[in-house]
Amino acid sequence: MRKLIKSLGLLSVVMLAAPFLVHAAEANEMDESAFVVHKLTEFLYAIGEPTYYQRNYSYLLVGEKQALMFDAGANQKEDITAVARTITDKPLSVLPSHLHFDHLGGLHNFQSVYLVDIPFTQKFKREDGLYHVPEPVYLGNFDHMVVPPFKVARLVKPEEVIDLGGLKVRVLSVPGHTQDEVALFDEAHDILLAGDHLYPSWLLAGNLKDYLSSLDRTLKIISPKTAVYGAHADEDPTRVPAMTYDQIVAIRDKMLQIQTGRAKAESFSDPELIRSSELYKVENDISILTKIRFTDGRGFGY
Ligand SMILES: [Zn+2]
Repeated sequence: MRKLIKSLGLLSVVMLAAPFLVHAAEANEMDESAFVVHKLTEFLYAIGEPTYYQRNYSYLLVGEKQALMFDAGANQKEDITAVARTITDKPLSVLPSHLHFDHLGGLHNFQSVYLVDIPFTQKFKREDGLYHVPEPVYLGNFDHMVVPPFKVARLVKPEEVIDLGGLKVRVLSVPGHTQDEVALFDEAHDILLAGDHLYPSWLLAGNLKDYLSSLDRTLKIISPKTAVYGAHADEDPTRVPAMTYDQIVAIRDKMLQIQTGRAKAESFSDPELIRSSELYKVENDISILTKIRFTDGRGFGY
């Protein structure tokens, strides 16, 4: 919140300077855009939301035949597909990393939605053929958000390969944060898009046992050379959330210590989201949160 107020203060100073009125209008437009694009490779773009308190990052993969967004952003008002359209005119689909509100904000703007096909997600399909995500799964209450029921264009099984034309990604099921959490692995270019499975900030453990086995598996699939990108930035929201192999090992080791009762917890709360939790520091901005109770009194976990 502090950062947001600071940038608004700067904007009003600029607007007071009359000779720069045109520039002020431009600055205004720039400041008000929720999305910032970072080009990572010729075919991969990160779309960040640095002014949003959760500092989300979604990713756009551009193949020769189609484009795929991994996550739909958190912002519901601005159209994230319009941002994608400044980069590619290929047929565009979206695959959410999981069904939390901050990854589905722009879902309604997509013509084509992919969804991981597991028993947990299958039960959200109703007689109208649409997927209705219940609030206890979506958690949109925090941001006063609701998700309209949506049509799924393609169900993808764990381990299935999505071929975008000259660019292939394998869907990895990585439960632990949530049951439906998935990551995308591009083996040819050695890139892992990790969603909420891994990012360099507070990791919310929904199920420690699942999380640990997913991390073990991830470490078998990737190598120290793999580029790993997560869905939330660290304290610097303008930086694309990349993870090193050593950080992932440190997270896995800390989780093992928590599971075996060898790690020391601090109690942690945060006015925006978390009333109480146990926090285990890993390094720098990276921590693991367990026994989470949100500000509205709901518990997190499965
Ligand atoms: Zn999440």
